[in-house]
Amino acid sequence: MSANAPDKNAAPPLPEPLRVPVADSHTHLDMQSGTVEEALAKAASVGVTTVVQVGCDVDGSRWAAETAAAHDAVHATVALHPNEAPRIVHGDPDGWSRQGAREPGGDAALDEALAEIDRLAALPQVKGVGETGLDHYRTGPEGKDAQERSFRAHIEIAKRHGKTLVIHDRDAHADVLRVLKEEGAPERTVFHCYSGDAEMAEICARAGYFMSFAGNVTFKNAQHLRDALAVAPPELVLVETDAPFLTPVPFRGRPNAPYLVPVTVRAMAAVRGIDEDTMAAALGANTARAFGY
Ligand SMILES: [Zn+2]
Ligand SMILES: [Zn+2]
Repeated sequence: MSANAPDKNAAPPLPEPLRVPVADSHTHLDMQSGTVEEALAKAASVGVTTVVQVGCDVDGSRWAAETAAAHDAVHATVALHPNEAPRIVHGDPDGWSRQGAREPGGDAALDEALAEIDRLAALPQVKGVGETGLDHYRTGPEGKDAQERSFRAHIEIAKRHGKTLVIHDRDAHADVLRVLKEEGAPERTVFHCYSGDAEMAEICARAGYFMSFAGNVTFKNAQHLRDALAVAPPELVLVETDAPFLTPVPFRGRPNAPYLVPVTVRAMAAVRGIDEDTMAAALGANTARAFGY
């Protein structure tokens, strides 16, 4: 690499601040570089004054709850990620998750992990249960049963504690909608990193599900997401980073963080043909309503 080549691992520059504050409705601060304090200060400096820290496994969910207890600007959600549940049951020789390679624990290990998520879900700073759902992209047929059992258990936990359900749906739209219908969705349900098309947005709208848009709404090949955003009811739309993933254009491929939310907010305002202050005001209010804070 020459001395002047831009470093694709370098943090993108601070965007122009938003005039109306918003929340990052879904982030993973524990997977980003720097301290929580630094991430929150940087985000707040551009108008991103609140973040929802999302747990993906037992340790990450404990960390989310602790971090939310320590910072007013942070709310937590707790869960076993749809790709984590099958790993607990069947083991993970590749060690994809933070614990590294693991032995199969069977159904008993999944029950034990779910009991800990249930305990954490009762905490006041924990506003949601998720990310849970279905991922047919990363989990193969052998993991499907464990994944669906875990999803159903999370729905039950969310309803019993009156918390928001945060859905991860990757290549699994029809099955996610089916399980939600069979179990009965909680009062507040969020499709994180909304990935459906306009037709599915209408189904979500009728059910009252929130749709949270991430940086991939700016990607050239994501016209279906922009079409969905264009038809989604304004009161059901949220914005998120899913950082460190899904960095918006023109910074795609570089590390994402909550301070980059304004880039996505501006792209969303353009899709809806409204000014950024109106967009930001709706997003801020919707996120507070979605997570009941
Ligand atoms: Zn996800
Ligand atoms: Zn996530």
